[in-house]
Amino acid sequence: MSEETRKFQTEVQELLNLVIHSLYSNKDIFLRELVANAADAIDKVSFESLTNPALKADWEIIIEPDKERSLLKISDNGIGMTRSELVENIGTIAKSGTREYLSTLKKNESKDIPELIGQFGVGFYSAFMVADKIEVVTKRAGSDEKATRWVSKGESSYTIDDADASEHGTSITLHLKPDCKNYLEEWKIREIVKKYSDFIEHPIKFVGIKKGKDEAVSEEKPIINSQKAIWLRPAAEVTEEQYKQFYGHLSHFDAEPLLHIHYAAEGTAEFKALLFIPSKAPFDFLSPEQQKSGLHLYIRRVFITDSCPGLLPEYLRFVKGVVDSSDLPLNISREILQENPGILKINKNLVRKIIAELKSLFDKDREKYSSFFKDFGRYVKEGVHSDFQNRDKLLDLLLFETMNTSSGKTVSLKEYVEKMPPGQKEIYYLSGDSRLLLENSPHLEFLKSQNFDVLFMTEPIDEWVVQSIPEYSGKKLKSAGKGEFELDEKTKTEKEDKTRKASEEHKNLVEFLKKHLENDIREVRFSSRLTESACCLVSNEHDPSIQMERIFKAMNREMPKMKRILELNPDHPLIASMQNFYDKNPKDSKLAEFAELLYDQALLTEGIPLSDPLKFSKRVAMLMVGGINSEIGK
Ligand code: ADP
Repeated sequence: MSEETRKFQTEVQELLNLVIHSLYSNKDIFLRELVANAADAIDKVSFESLTNPALKADWEIIIEPDKERSLLKISDNGIGMTRSELVENIGTIAKSGTREYLSTLKKNESKDIPELIGQFGVGFYSAFMVADKIEVVTKRAGSDEKATRWVSKGESSYTIDDADASEHGTSITLHLKPDCKNYLEEWKIREIVKKYSDFIEHPIKFVGIKKGKDEAVSEEKPIINSQKAIWLRPAAEVTEEQYKQFYGHLSHFDAEPLLHIHYAAEGTAEFKALLFIPSKAPFDFLSPEQQKSGLHLYIRRVFITDSCPGLLPEYLRFVKGVVDSSDLPLNISREILQENPGILKINKNLVRKIIAELKSLFDKDREKYSSFFKDFGRYVKEGVHSDFQNRDKLLDLLLFETMNTSSGKTVSLKEYVEKMPPGQKEIYYLSGDSRLLLENSPHLEFLKSQNFDVLFMTEPIDEWVVQSIPEYSGKKLKSAGKGEFELDEKTKTEKEDKTRKASEEHKNLVEFLKKHLENDIREVRFSSRLTESACCLVSNEHDPSIQMERIFKAMNREMPKMKRILELNPDHPLIASMQNFYDKNPKDSKLAEFAELLYDQALLTEGIPLSDPLKFSKRVAMLMVGGINSEIGK
């Protein structure tokens, strides 16, 4: 095939622009990314060699600097790429979430960009931080196609042409920028490889140039990386630093993990596992398919896949690590692997272990656990919703802010129940967009007066989760914004008497409000939950909550219009005034305005936007005029 020049996909051009034109302090990671790609390529070909022995070879990654020409070459005898694979893999980014990712990069401090590049899985392009021209020569293993050369200066285009390589694999030659010549130094290369790639199982060799008698000759030095599969070693022999480095290698993330879980399972499934709970949540733009590839599966030290969906349930996708099985069959295709009963056994064992370790962190170091929950609580909640078998254990891992905690402080369900005063029968919660909105909600008034605490649920997922928890420790979970509260006999009778009396007293006013607001309201009644506000909106016990309706709207999902109940506070002076007005002027058109204002107020306290805010503010202005005039005795 002939030489051709192609334009990079727009997204790649934007990315390269950011990579090339910013100044970074941590450029070293380009080598980590290229070595990781080389190791992946070898993993792939070594897996293929299980069924195609012709592909067997001594796997190796070679790093070769050429000081004279300022070139740094990284080569592997891995799977290689065909011409079309090359065009697809390097030149386009076909991932969901790329747009969001790019805009995050643009907003981000430039110093973080290299890390983000690795995490998003576009690490190859980081090489343009140090190189002003890159050549890739690659040949696909097991294909008759000729090798291909790819050359680019990282501007808007690249050229692609046939090349002469006869062995499969890939070599990447970087033309280093003038200020990046330090990457030609042996010590520098060794330092970076040791730091980031020590655990790569394939040998990483350094080839230097030695001055011979007449000409320079290349000289292979001892292997740089220790190739230690640390997950196979007893935990007592592995240092914290080694765990940290290995975590960095797995996650492309230069940070301490929050927790490591290193153990050997025996019995129904035999495997060794080294798992990490990250210290920080992945970026929101990470697409679900990327989040899925948390665990690397090995079978007797042979890398099989980094995407075996059955290995962990989806809600634990934030866990990174390695599982090395000693009883799964090696000659199994990746496609049917996840149906192997052995995988399910590993899955069960891992889930049990992860939950137990999180519980132990919860018990031993609450502060650390809380910081975990802040970032990963929504995954635990997903588990409560989806993992029926472990639901009870997961429930004990939940944390909530409450009406009585200060902002940012949380309690568990167990702690909540322990603190319930004797008269409280249910666990109360209230869901809404923010703590501020909830703190001021009229739904809390009565509960507050009784010293009953209320769990605050401010994440969209809470609405779903709470439906999976009808009760905890024998106590019903009850929305403060729905139905009637279950109270002790005395309080209940008092409340009922009061509301009954109010209903009789204000019968005609209630009838009027109901009639006038019938398009929006299902019922008007006197409330037992209000002590300060004049009114609020309440949902029926089994209706979706106001928050749920809001979430559906935000997702652009259709939901039938829910008519709520308008509850009135029998003790509020506004009700008495309206009654007076009604008795004197039952036909006055102002009554309709008052009714609408009352309903608008109830909407506003729920954080629901008004359909006609202009009308509302005009009416409030008029009422203010009346109020002010009467203040000054006009
Ligand atoms: P990632 O490796 O995270 O997928 P990169 O941008 O680093 O992202 O690489 C893009 C793709 O190019 C890889 O997924 C792989 O398919 C291909 N690739 C990169 N380097 C090599 C290599 N040395 N050998 C074979 N394929 C490679």
